[in-house]
Amino acid sequence: MADPELCLESGGYDADSFVDPPDQDLICTICQGVLRCPVRAPCHHIFCKKCILQWLKRQETCPCCRKPINHNLILVMYKLSKSIGRLKIKCKNEIRGCRATFPLAEQYCHSLACVFELVGCPYRGCRAQLLRRDLETHARHCEHWRRPCHMGCGALVSHGTWTQHNCYQQLRLQHEAQRQSHRAVAIALQRKMRRMQKAMAHMKEQIALICESLEVMDEQQEQEEEGSNSERSNSRSSSF
Ligand SMILES: [Zn+2]
Ligand SMILES: [Zn+2]
Ligand SMILES: [Zn+2]
Ligand SMILES: [Zn+2]
Ligand SMILES: [Zn+2]
Repeated sequence: MADPELCLESGGYDADSFVDPPDQDLICTICQGVLRCPVRAPCHHIFCKKCILQWLKRQETCPCCRKPINHNLILVMYKLSKSIGRLKIKCKNEIRGCRATFPLAEQYCHSLACVFELVGCPYRGCRAQLLRRDLETHARHCEHWRRPCHMGCGALVSHGTWTQHNCYQQLRLQHEAQRQSHRAVAIALQRKMRRMQKAMAHMKEQIALICESLEVMDEQQEQEEEGSNSERSNSRSSSF
């Protein structure tokens, strides 16, 4: 089956990419390419789906016979699409050396495996674009090549560090770094605790001061009350 993804692109297939020159009936009169996702108008003229939909946005008549076209009466031609998908094409990487030919419908599958396909180096940071068949050779020299140490120490080694790599040294460095970070955490915690202790001592002082002033106020009040009581008793005794 023809790749449905391909039907979304505008215009038909390039007639030159077919092994045998395609039949004239298979050519879209709008784009002059081989029909991509063919549809039939009510007047029986056939176009690429995308081509006719774009055409109808400007005028709703057939570009061949000028009869009016109703959108709803356009039919997708699945069988024709399938038989076009069986036509043999040449690889788009022919100029790079690929001699493969295959049915149009298998174009996508072939591009995933074609050794003449231009691909990017998979190693992060490398911008090299090369043929898929040259990837392995490139990886042997790529300065962005990284691989975890096969001994499992967790280090990423490059071509440059691979020969000098020492798992023991690597683990010692990691251990030292971990110890440093643990020490930093402990120091920070101690500092925080000291700050909290200081704040608590300050609060205790404040509370003691408040208690003291409350006691003073109580005493004053008691004294005042005692004074007024004795005055009252004095006045009472003097009236008799
Ligand atoms: Zn077309
Ligand atoms: Zn027509
Ligand atoms: Zn190819
Ligand atoms: Zn690379
Ligand atoms: Zn290692």
